[in-house]
Amino acid sequence: MAVYEPTIGLEIHAELRTQTKMFCSSKNDPDETRPNVNICPVCLAHPGTLPVINGEAVRHVLRVGTALNTYSP
Ligand SMILES: [Zn+2]
Repeated sequence: MAVYEPTIGLEIHAELRTQTKMFCSSKNDPDETRPNVNICPVCLAHPGTLPVINGEAVRHVLRVGTALNTYSP
Protein backbone atom coordinates (compact mmCIF):
# COMPACT_ATOMS: atom_id res chain seq x y z
CA MET A 1 0.00 0.00 0.00
CA ALA A 2 1.35 3.41 -0.98
CA VAL A 3 2.11 5.90 1.74
CA TYR A 4 1.04 9.43 1.02
CA GLU A 5 2.18 12.59 2.73
CA PRO A 6 -0.41 15.34 2.57
CA THR A 7 0.79 18.70 1.37
CA ILE A 8 -1.52 21.59 2.03
CA GLY A 9 -1.11 25.01 0.45
CA LEU A 10 -3.04 28.20 0.45
CA GLU A 11 -3.88 30.38 -2.51
CA ILE A 12 -4.79 33.84 -1.33
CA HIS A 13 -6.27 36.54 -3.52
CA ALA A 14 -6.37 40.23 -2.76
CA GLU A 15 -7.87 43.20 -4.52
CA LEU A 16 -5.32 45.96 -4.91
CA ARG A 17 -6.33 49.59 -4.97
CA THR A 18 -4.55 50.54 -8.19
CA GLN A 19 -5.60 53.14 -10.71
CA THR A 20 -5.46 50.68 -13.61
CA LYS A 21 -5.89 46.96 -14.10
CA MET A 22 -3.07 44.45 -13.67
CA PHE A 23 -2.13 44.02 -17.34
CA CYS A 24 -3.45 47.07 -19.19
CA SER A 25 -4.24 50.74 -18.76
CA SER A 26 -7.99 50.23 -18.36
CA LYS A 27 -9.41 51.88 -15.26
CA ASN A 28 -9.60 49.66 -12.18
CA ASP A 29 -12.97 50.52 -10.68
CA PRO A 30 -14.48 47.64 -8.69
CA ASP A 31 -17.47 49.83 -7.90
CA GLU A 32 -18.45 50.22 -11.57
CA THR A 33 -21.85 48.63 -11.96
CA ARG A 34 -22.23 48.86 -15.72
CA PRO A 35 -20.83 45.91 -17.67
CA ASN A 36 -18.03 46.24 -20.23
CA VAL A 37 -17.21 49.86 -19.43
CA ASN A 38 -13.57 49.67 -18.29
CA ILE A 39 -12.23 47.32 -20.93
CA CYS A 40 -9.79 47.40 -23.82
CA PRO A 41 -8.42 44.99 -26.46
CA VAL A 42 -5.95 43.58 -23.90
CA CYS A 43 -8.77 42.85 -21.42
CA LEU A 44 -10.62 41.09 -24.19
CA ALA A 45 -7.50 39.15 -25.24
CA HIS A 46 -7.80 40.26 -28.82
CA PRO A 47 -5.22 38.68 -31.10
CA GLY A 48 -2.08 40.76 -31.40
CA THR A 49 -2.47 42.51 -28.06
CA LEU A 50 0.14 42.12 -25.38
CA PRO A 51 -0.29 42.64 -21.65
CA VAL A 52 1.98 45.05 -19.78
CA ILE A 53 2.36 44.48 -16.05
CA ASN A 54 1.15 47.23 -13.73
CA GLY A 55 4.18 48.59 -11.87
CA GLU A 56 2.00 50.09 -9.15
CA ALA A 57 0.50 46.64 -8.46
CA VAL A 58 3.96 45.04 -8.35
CA ARG A 59 5.07 47.61 -5.76
CA HIS A 60 1.97 46.86 -3.66
CA VAL A 61 2.62 43.11 -3.85
CA LEU A 62 6.24 43.54 -2.82
CA ARG A 63 5.17 45.65 0.16
CA VAL A 64 2.71 42.94 1.24
CA GLY A 65 5.38 40.29 0.86
CA THR A 66 7.76 42.34 2.98
CA ALA A 67 5.08 42.93 5.64
CA LEU A 68 4.34 39.20 5.78
CA ASN A 69 8.02 38.35 5.82
CA THR A 70 7.69 36.27 2.69
CA TYR A 71 9.83 38.51 0.54
CA SER A 72 13.08 40.26 1.24
CA PRO A 73 14.65 42.46 -1.43
ZN1 LIG B 1 -7.79 46.54 -20.54
